[in-house]
Amino acid sequence: MTLGEFDLIERFFQRSRAMPGVIVGVGDDAAVLELPADRQLVVTADTLIEGVHFPVATAAFDIGYKVLAVSVSDLAAMGAMPRWYTLALTLPQADESWLGDFSAGLAALEEASGIALIGGDTTRGALSVTIQAMGWVRRGAAVRRAGARPGDDVYVTGTLGDAALGLKLVRGEVGSAEAFERCRERLDRPRPRTVAGYSLAPFVTAMIDCSDGFVADLTHLLEASGCGAEIDLRQLPLSAPVRRWVSEHGWALPLGGGDDYELIFTADPAQRSVINGIADNLHCAVTRVGVIVEQAGIRLLDEQGHGIEPAQAGYRHF
Ligand code: ADP
Ligand code: MG
Repeated sequence: MTLGEFDLIERFFQRSRAMPGVIVGVGDDAAVLELPADRQLVVTADTLIEGVHFPVATAAFDIGYKVLAVSVSDLAAMGAMPRWYTLALTLPQADESWLGDFSAGLAALEEASGIALIGGDTTRGALSVTIQAMGWVRRGAAVRRAGARPGDDVYVTGTLGDAALGLKLVRGEVGSAEAFERCRERLDRPRPRTVAGYSLAPFVTAMIDCSDGFVADLTHLLEASGCGAEIDLRQLPLSAPVRRWVSEHGWALPLGGGDDYELIFTADPAQRSVINGIADNLHCAVTRVGVIVEQAGIRLLDEQGHGIEPAQAGYRHF
């Protein structure tokens, strides 16, 4: 992009406030960052393409907010503190009102998560947004998917299935109701569990963020850890509208629905009181939903306490 490229960057992507660790930010050939000596850098990248990852004509604010939220959630799942990100933006045209809204969406999450925009690239073409987010952890303290051991507890933050119910509202598969609108808010404005992630990190054995759905993401964690899990469906944390949905339609929504951006993690039972204390302090719901076992795969305990496979509970890939 040539015409107005530098004005555009200055207006919409140059932030005025001071940013920790940023020696050189937006405006030079590259950024220069300072990492404290006892920290390691944690890096993740995500691309959202119009028509593929979000519908054509999605509000610009929501696109900015969500692409950054998805990346920050990955940092949270590693137990990392979000610090910096770069933005590679491809646009069909430089529409000022679109750019203003998009930038505001990014800024909302920058503020909420303490991450700073330090550079990027701007090109002309079909709308696509790539973010590379960076955070830091104390040396050796990054939490992996591998690390769960038989006997560990399995936990999940927040509630499951709300974003999937919000998607049903967007698609017109359920009628409009206030409870569903709150679910739609979960879909459009997920709140990555940043502080919970780095606060819980020293006490957990494995962690992943729930983007594809509870069963799918727990399976990733279990496969990396080389073990299985028994999950008590009666303990799954559900909001009132999702609970009502489950009583009529079964468990597919909270087990298979994506986009919740909660954390799934495992910990030694000796850590229960520490973990509950952190949850209370942060006002972040943390629910123990099951236990790690040696035998691979996920077994669910139904309402009667009988073991069933996810498919029998109505689990399917969304
Ligand atoms: P170069 O041609 O040297 O790569 P650019 O013209 O691409 O420089 O970018 C100029 C400056 O603006 C760089 O500091 C770059 O990081 C920054 N920048 C470009 N696009 C964006 C963007 N979308 N968001 C944030 N910073 C950007
Ligand atoms: Mg460039």
